[in-house]
Amino acid sequence: MVRVSIPKEQVQCENWIGGDWRKGSGDAIEIQSPITGATIGSLQASTAEDLTDCIENSQEAAKGWAALSIKERCAVMFRAREILLRECDAISHVVSAESGKTFGESKAGLFKGIEVLEYALSLQNVDSGGRMEVSTGVWCEYRREPLGVVAGITPFNFPAMVPMWMMPIALTLGNAFIWKPSEKTPITSKLLAQAFAEAGLPAGVLNIVQGGRETVEAILDAPGISAAAFVGSTAVAKQVYARGSASHKRVLALGGAKNHIVLMPDANPEMAADGIVASFTGCAGQRCMAASVLLAVGDTEHILSQIKERAAGLKLSDNMGAIITQESVDKLNQAVDKAESAGTKILLDGRRPQAPTDYKNGFWFAPTILDEVSRDAEVSQTELFGPVLTIIRCENLSEALEIENGSEYGNAASVFTQSGAVAERFAQEAQAGMVGVNIGVPVPREPFSFGGIQASKFGQGDITGAGSLDFWSNQKKLTTKWSIESARNWMS
Ligand code: NAD
Repeated sequence: MVRVSIPKEQVQCENWIGGDWRKGSGDAIEIQSPITGATIGSLQASTAEDLTDCIENSQEAAKGWAALSIKERCAVMFRAREILLRECDAISHVVSAESGKTFGESKAGLFKGIEVLEYALSLQNVDSGGRMEVSTGVWCEYRREPLGVVAGITPFNFPAMVPMWMMPIALTLGNAFIWKPSEKTPITSKLLAQAFAEAGLPAGVLNIVQGGRETVEAILDAPGISAAAFVGSTAVAKQVYARGSASHKRVLALGGAKNHIVLMPDANPEMAADGIVASFTGCAGQRCMAASVLLAVGDTEHILSQIKERAAGLKLSDNMGAIITQESVDKLNQAVDKAESAGTKILLDGRRPQAPTDYKNGFWFAPTILDEVSRDAEVSQTELFGPVLTIIRCENLSEALEIENGSEYGNAASVFTQSGAVAERFAQEAQAGMVGVNIGVPVPREPFSFGGIQASKFGQGDITGAGSLDFWSNQKKLTTKWSIESARNWMS
């Protein structure tokens, strides 16, 4: 177990523009570590004027970067990969200190980000466009071109991974990128900026603006930004999609989730208990892929007892991280209090747990399991974003699928079974962008794209993998004829 190193001195987070650190001119915002509850730094929010400076700088840098060949851009990205691997532990400590994750979770998130970078590196070999003689002497061709200046707005829960879903592909395709990190977890952005600068990314190709809602709105309204990717809650994703589209940007906005796991009585008990507990307690339930509703079909007592036992054995700070703010802990307590008052059976109670000895002032909430919950209850419908598993008992697979399909969200859904027929029916009928069979967190690995449907994603395309290429670039269609001698045809 690696003990997270919490910054001893407060870290100032400024904007990174044109290779310099510049203070934003908006309000100061404090950054707290969820593990200790202590203030570990602050940021200076950016105003619309700060953003205008940033965009001008990005536009200038975009020209030179786009003029390089993809192989030259990949040379920089390859060095960035080496530096990120070298700095992996240092970055993971900062991610944990500001987001509350365990060290292992932070490292895993960064590795997933590096995997996206590796996919971006492959584009120099595989994304060769297409060329064909469509009529005698007449050739049609695809050429992929960058959009210019693009932006990414990211949530608190993956301070390194989510920006690394976006930046490697957007940059490799020749765009300049403006990143607005979460105001709750901005310190990681300093280390990523340094890594790309050391790799030789020209100044201004990656710029960072700190801030919250106002900075996001300035990004969405700015005519100098061609596309914006957003990852965060559904309520904000909807607003971002509408506002960015209104200023004629290409927008992809990933939202929140309420993910279901169907547990069949024939599931392998070990595999199911492991997968389900890892899914609802990993990152303390603060991930969009966390299973939060367990649809237990028929007699599954032998597996449910193992789930309870394993979840009860997790030690706060060692095996499960902290909750991002005290306010979020309060909301979790209230949600469970309310469910209890409505008669819900509490199988495992994680409210107001004893804090780990060294972290008495951190923000803690232990694994919680609610049983025999009705499908209409608030805890069955809303995203709680904490380590709470709501069990709904179902008579058969059809009932479980009906509940899963009734959710407004559509990020992930999984089934635990040993029956191929059940698995195939689930894969066909589950209404989710990412479906798992005997996998608790069905995150696709590159080159398969990440992304949900319904209220979990607004906009076209995907944020990673092959589905992201057409989001971060345009395909120019070129038609040429050079030979006068070639036979006359309808394109003459
Ligand atoms: P959030 O929506 O509060 O914030 C996300 C970003 O939007 C931050 O950068 C924040 O500064 C900005 N923001 C906040 N309020 C805003 C507003 N009113 N207008 C404009 N911008 C605003 O989300 P969060 O709490 O940081 O992250 C948790 C949420 O993100 C959860 O709902 C989770 O499911 C979701 N999430 C989704 C995915 C996915 O891939 N679908 C991945 C990670 C997290």
